[in-house]
Amino acid sequence: MKNISIIIPAFREWKNISRIHIALKKILSSISEFYDNEIIFVNDWSNDTTWKEIQKLASKDEKIKWINLSRNFGHQQALTAWYMKASWDLIISMDADMQDPPILILKMIKQWENWYEVVYARRIKRNDKFLKKYTAILYYKILSKVSDTQIPRDVWDFRLIDKKVLKTFKKLKEKDRYIRWMFAWIWFKTCFVDFIRPERIHWETWYTWKKMIKLAMDWILNFSTFPLKLWALIWFFIIVLSSIFFLYVTYDFFINWADYPLYKWINIVLLWFMWLQFIFMWILWEYIWRIYNETRERPLYIISEKINFK
Ligand code: UDP
Ligand code: MG
Repeated sequence: MKNISIIIPAFREWKNISRIHIALKKILSSISEFYDNEIIFVNDWSNDTTWKEIQKLASKDEKIKWINLSRNFGHQQALTAWYMKASWDLIISMDADMQDPPILILKMIKQWENWYEVVYARRIKRNDKFLKKYTAILYYKILSKVSDTQIPRDVWDFRLIDKKVLKTFKKLKEKDRYIRWMFAWIWFKTCFVDFIRPERIHWETWYTWKKMIKLAMDWILNFSTFPLKLWALIWFFIIVLSSIFFLYVTYDFFINWADYPLYKWINIVLLWFMWLQFIFMWILWEYIWRIYNETRERPLYIISEKINFK
C-alpha cells in the first residue's frame, strides 16, 4: 500500500472545487486497493467562497485537508506551502480549474510504477486564446535560449514526484522560486504523459500579466547569467566606439593638424572612463552572482541511487 498526496492550489476557484473533487474521487477510488490518498487544497487567500466549498467537502471527507494562506502569495508559493510539508510516497500537484484532467493521474502512476521518479503531464496542443498561446511560445523560445538550465517544453505544474525527489526539492531554499525550473534542475528519472490541455471553463485566469512577468524575471535571474552577458556586450560596444573615436581624433590632430578644442578631448577621456567603469561594474556583477549562488545553498550534486553499498 502506497500513499498519494494530491496538492491543489486554489485562488478564487469556488466553482471548480466540487467538480475537481468529484472527478478525483472517482479516479482515486479505482486504485484505492493499492493506493491510499489525501487531497490537499491550499487556499491562496481567495476572497470569495472557495473556503466554504472546501470546508463543506472536508467536513464530510477526512481525506480532504486544507491549508489557508494568510494572504495571496501566488501559485508557486501556494504549491511550496505543501511541498515543504508533504511526506507521502507520491506527490501530485495540479491546478484546481480542471485544466489538468484528473484522469491523467492514472497514467502518471503507471509511469511511476515503471520506474520513473518524476512524471510530467505535457500538453501537445494548446487550446488557449490567441494572445496567450503565442506569448507562451515566444516566452519558451527566448527563455530557454537564455537559461542555463534546460527545461522541458510545454510542461506545467501538473506533475507526479517520488518521495525521494521531494526530499531533494526541500533542500532548494531560494525565495524567488519557479518550481518548474527547480524540478528541471533536479531532474531524476523523468518522463512525460502527453495530453491536450482543455480551456479553463469557469472565469478568467487569475494569472495576471504582472504575475507572469514576475515569473519570467525569476527565471532569467535565477537560472541564467544572461544579464551579465548582456552587460559584457554593452561594455564591448563602448570599447569599440571609444577606440574608433580616439584613433580618429589622434589621426585628425597629428596628420591633418586640425585644431582641437579641449571639450573634444574631454569627450574621449570620458568615454575611456566609461568603459573602465563598465569593467568594474561587470566584476561587481560577477561577484554578486556568486554571492547569490552561495546564499541559495543549493546542493552541489544530487545522488539518485547508491548501488551495492552496505
Ligand atoms: N492560483 C493560486 N494563486 C494565484 C493564482 C492562481 O493559487 O495567485 C492557482 C489557481 O487556483 C489554479 C492554479 O494556480 O489552481 C493555476 O492558475 P490558473 O489556472 O489561473 O493559471 P493557468 O492555468 O491559466 O496557467
Ligand atoms: Mg488553469
